[in-house]
Amino acid sequence: MKVLITGGLGYIGSHTVVELSNNGFECIIIDNLSNSSIDVLGEIEKLCKKKIEFWSTDLRNKDELAQIFDTHKFHAVVHFAGLKSPGESVLEPLKYFDQNLGTTINLLKEMQRKNVKKLVFSSSATVYGDLTWPPVHEGAPTSILNPYGRTKLMIEEMLQDLSKSDSEWCIAILRYFNPIGAHPSGTIGEKPNGVPNNLMPYITQVASGEREHLNILGDDYSTHDGTGVRDYIHVMDLANGHLKALNYLNNHLGNHLFNLGTGRGYSVLDLVKTFEEVNSIKIPYQVMKRRPGDIAVSFADSSKAEKELGWKAERGLREMCKDSWRWEKNSSK
Ligand code: NAD
Ligand code: UDP
Repeated sequence: MKVLITGGLGYIGSHTVVELSNNGFECIIIDNLSNSSIDVLGEIEKLCKKKIEFWSTDLRNKDELAQIFDTHKFHAVVHFAGLKSPGESVLEPLKYFDQNLGTTINLLKEMQRKNVKKLVFSSSATVYGDLTWPPVHEGAPTSILNPYGRTKLMIEEMLQDLSKSDSEWCIAILRYFNPIGAHPSGTIGEKPNGVPNNLMPYITQVASGEREHLNILGDDYSTHDGTGVRDYIHVMDLANGHLKALNYLNNHLGNHLFNLGTGRGYSVLDLVKTFEEVNSIKIPYQVMKRRPGDIAVSFADSSKAEKELGWKAERGLREMCKDSWRWEKNSSK
């Protein structure tokens, strides 16, 4: 079965292409390479042991998008492409509305035109904002902390309207918690442009000597050690969640929301200590003030995904730290 993967050369997309391809799906990738490299394609192909069709296309280019949908009859679409920096979205909201909302509307119109009505969409735990004390379940109220989060929630709402308007749509909205880790081969992983915003890529760059020390952004939260707590999930587990979601859509109409997290929260210091221990590397750090908009604690109630998708995260923090470091060592050579 042919599946179109938008943003398939990016961090989560590349791992998902490998997972889907190794489970019998034929993946066709669209990516404009704005946050990825063409080299990733070769690595994916090695891991899948086959050629993968790639279109270097921007989702804003309606004509090219139409050409792709005219070339293939897709069973489903997995939609990763988009911009993902909350901080940047505060400074450049229009860019986020254009590149996250505009592109998704183009994609949905093409899907409707060609009667492709199965979609897995990458949403984020950011839509829960700061209203709910964890574990957060899918029915928890949402709140928006920045334009990036607003684009995710607006797309979720668009998808709800779409499936209300036409009962043939089968949509899985996956709210990811904090993906880290990399493929155990060490050949694909996360490659941020410039200074990383996220904690794990910052830690690995300190470990490789590219950065001097980690800045811990606040140690006065009401958590067990004062640093922020998050639900870190191995990207391989996340990729498997997409396989489960695609299979689920074969016999579930309508719109379905799932949290993808481990259900366990770890602090910044927990992560630093685990990384140091499993990789035998010291991570020097200094404590700075809190980052505006950060919440103290976030972790998932993923029982719905376990019950309905038959999905559960299997990999622990130690494995995430080992795999992240293996990838950093290989990719910074
Ligand atoms: P990523 O930046 O690594 O991957 C996104 C890919 O989409 C990149 O390869 C980029 O080149 C491509 N892209 C961007 N805009 C495009 C466009 N207009 N047309 C075609 N391709 C385009 O990001 P990721 O971490 O793999 O995240 C994938 C999705 O998951 C995003 O939608 C993101 O918002 C969401 N998400 C990510 C996280 C996270 O922490 N990584 C957490 C929650 C949700
Ligand atoms: N964090 C940190 N230093 C950094 C980046 C992040 O201390 O350089 C903290 C941040 O305050 C939060 C946790 O690490 O408590 C996870 O941050 P990340 O940006 O990775 O995820 P998010 O906050 O978006 O869930």
